[in-house]
Amino acid sequence: MSQQPGQLTFVAPRRAKPARHLADLSMADRRAAVTELGEKAFRADQLSRHYFERLTTDVAAMTDLPAASRDKLAQLLPSLLTPVKELTTDGGTTRKTLWKLFDGALVESVLMRYPDRVTMCVSSQAGCGMNCPFCATGQAGLTRNMSTAEIVEQVVAGARALAAGEVPGGPGRVSNVVFMGMGEPLANYKQVIGAVRRLVDPAPHGLGISARGVTVSTVGLVPAIGKLAEEGLPVTLALSLHAPDDELRDTLVPINTRWKVSEVLDAAWAYAAKTKRRVSIEYALIKDINDQEWRADLLGKLVRNKLVHVNLIPLNPTPGSKWTASRPEDERAFVRRLEFHGVPVTVRDTRGREIDGACGQLAAADV
Ligand code: SAH
Repeated sequence: MSQQPGQLTFVAPRRAKPARHLADLSMADRRAAVTELGEKAFRADQLSRHYFERLTTDVAAMTDLPAASRDKLAQLLPSLLTPVKELTTDGGTTRKTLWKLFDGALVESVLMRYPDRVTMCVSSQAGCGMNCPFCATGQAGLTRNMSTAEIVEQVVAGARALAAGEVPGGPGRVSNVVFMGMGEPLANYKQVIGAVRRLVDPAPHGLGISARGVTVSTVGLVPAIGKLAEEGLPVTLALSLHAPDDELRDTLVPINTRWKVSEVLDAAWAYAAKTKRRVSIEYALIKDINDQEWRADLLGKLVRNKLVHVNLIPLNPTPGSKWTASRPEDERAFVRRLEFHGVPVTVRDTRGREIDGACGQLAAADV
């Protein structure tokens, strides 16, 4: 469903829900679910070890479970994601997977291996209702929210590929997860928090990824940022700002018509104060739109002396958009102005452009 310019969709269309999966449940709920199936509660711990530590869902291979229990317990490990297409670049160290969900909805995830880390970029919704005009996902509108397990499964799939040595560089582990794929994570709050807990809970409760390695990126849903600060999960907050002034941000990030630059920055500073985590400000540099030196100055004044890091992203091309990345000299001038204000700034290495796997390019077209 495509959206009118500026239109926002907060409530996902009601749809049939994906099957319940072990990864949807807290340990206590897993024990209850296993008991409901007529099994001993400790089977939940065994099943969790298989799934979160050994990354397996094949009950036939779970030799510590009685043969008679395996089929029953398999009900907690339904297959949720079917790979439709895989594209790789950077010698195989960047890989984008298109997944089909049980109802035919399509989402994408991207694995990026660097010398010192592996980052999984995951989707949290099929489509997105936030309608940012420079983002391919935003153009398609919102299909539905993803379940906690559908989100976790993207990371488990990446972890499995790494453990099996399928990604060049030898066997490895997922060290970082960024909620920067399709969707607005804070518009699917409950399921996303569940997924974050499964990611950071120590094995066998979860995957045992450091909370510091998890980044939740948002257009700026102010009340949800406040709620996230209270979760006691020290994840990194990334704020997609893209303009320092309301006039421009109203058009680039339509949620700004609801919560203004000053309000969303206040929420970000409160998040930093509460969690002691540096907030990341995301700013896609768009030629002649938001890349003027005076805007760099304005941004510098707004964020200087805060617990912040500015991440500049050269705009990635998307179908139907007239916009393009800034000229190199304008990008350099923008960086210099921010540095002049003493603001830590980096230009993001945008991986995966060749496979439409870079920021803002995930559109999940089944072609
Ligand atoms: N909805 C969340 C999560 C998506 S993250 C959010 O907007 O933060 C994707 C990041 O890529 C966001 O910072 C987004 O603004 C940015 N982005 C979107 N389209 C882009 C494009 N064409 N080029 C570069 N960055 C883009």
